[in-house]
Amino acid sequence: MKQYDVVIIGAGPAGEKCSAYLATEGKKVCLIEKNENHIGGTCLNEGCIPAKLYLESVACLGKKKYLESLGLSMQEARFDMSVLKNKKISLLDQIRKGATLGIKKSGVDTIFGLASFVDEKSVHVEGEIIQADKFVIATGSIHRPHPLLKVDKKQIISSDEVFELEKVPESILVVGGGAIGCEFATFFNSLGVSVHIAEFTSNLVPAEDADVAKTLKRELERKGIKVTLSANVTSFVKNENSVEIKMETARGVIEASYELILVSIGRSPNSANIGLENAKIKSEKGFIVVDEHLKTTNPNIYAIGDVIPTPSLAHVAYNEAKTVAYNIINKSQKEPSKIIPFVTFCNPQVASVGLNEKMLKKQNIEYVVIKQFFKSNSKAKIKGDDGGFIKLLCDKESKIILGGAIIGQEATEIIHQILICVNQKLTIQDLKEMIFAHPTLSESLWEMVEK
Ligand code: FAD
Repeated sequence: MKQYDVVIIGAGPAGEKCSAYLATEGKKVCLIEKNENHIGGTCLNEGCIPAKLYLESVACLGKKKYLESLGLSMQEARFDMSVLKNKKISLLDQIRKGATLGIKKSGVDTIFGLASFVDEKSVHVEGEIIQADKFVIATGSIHRPHPLLKVDKKQIISSDEVFELEKVPESILVVGGGAIGCEFATFFNSLGVSVHIAEFTSNLVPAEDADVAKTLKRELERKGIKVTLSANVTSFVKNENSVEIKMETARGVIEASYELILVSIGRSPNSANIGLENAKIKSEKGFIVVDEHLKTTNPNIYAIGDVIPTPSLAHVAYNEAKTVAYNIINKSQKEPSKIIPFVTFCNPQVASVGLNEKMLKKQNIEYVVIKQFFKSNSKAKIKGDDGGFIKLLCDKESKIILGGAIIGQEATEIIHQILICVNQKLTIQDLKEMIFAHPTLSESLWEMVEK
């Protein structure tokens, strides 16, 4: 029977990072991953990396009209989905090999197979029992099924199957207007596909403030994407080459037909079949219950990443991995960082960090909003799209920056400047005294406090 200091279940961003931190600190670590070809987890194989590669492949198509106005002819532009799919396979292989080598170099033992708790001190993997003093569960998340639209991988797909498509569909209904839905809507829209987003709640990207969500809806519609809010698909009929849908909306029933349906209504925690009850670990709605130090209801077992009820983001998983590694090594215990950047890579991009208006109101914090539209930014004009804005939210009295949001080009990059402001408790006056380079999109941050 093999014995380790720590066993980590799942080699996604959470498990991979946590195992490396612990092994580097001299712990005897075993990382168990379901599938040899799934090192890197959802993020590498069906999430962040392929999704952003797909968006990059069509980024210049989204700017076609503007580039033509600059004298660049895009008449001959052609797109081949199978070429992109092959590029994805080779890129993921390359990154996976690097990650596998990194795990090996850090001294972590890797075992492939499905792990399940036998009792509080051991797991079962492929006929083998592995024991440890501490465990970390990092089994991530899976596609969240729609109550009606079951994925058939042909006409009704999840985000996983987008990366398997060999050809571009003529029309697509994206069910769910969260980050993943909006990103894929941008991808297909850039390729000239007729795209319709049906979102159940009253706003796209529901976690963001209403002004950001409303601007996003307007900008997506300007690009030709149809957006229906408060929409509920109530029935469907599959034909040979299309799916007919009926959806109830605030303005009545919509009936329409699409070549493809993409279901993107979120992710579900992947905690079934790992024997939680055998190790006295509690879960709620599938999410593993943890305390502020990420300890489960069993004091020797931690859980991190998408399997716990914190935001389902790879960088949140990284931060939790680091926190748990620290907590396993040290007597003093840390909590994960609460200042989290949220990023959506659609066009226009959306990003936010720190407290948003909903949170500030809920916490009864008096605040002021400072907003700057990219319309007055020359770099945005040079880049051919001056839609969107940056807003800062700061404490009414002290003017300390508590949060911010951006909708527009490069929002997912610029947001880190607001992240630093929030993290370092900078004030509006601090920003005023800095020099921002010209002409840049970031300059808007300085212009907005200077006026
Ligand atoms: P996962 O990455 O899901 O990894 C869990 C691993 O555990 C898997 O490899 C699985 O095979 C393994 N496993 C499960 N059960 C067992 C078991 N019993 N035994 C052994 N192994 C097991 N996040 C961002 O931050 N930015 C983005 O731009 C972004 N884009 C995304 C786009 C899409 C389309 C999707 C689907 C997700 C995206 N995400 C993004 C979310 C991100 O992928 C997840 O937050 C991240 O992968 C979570 O990491 P994790 O380690 O918790 O879980």
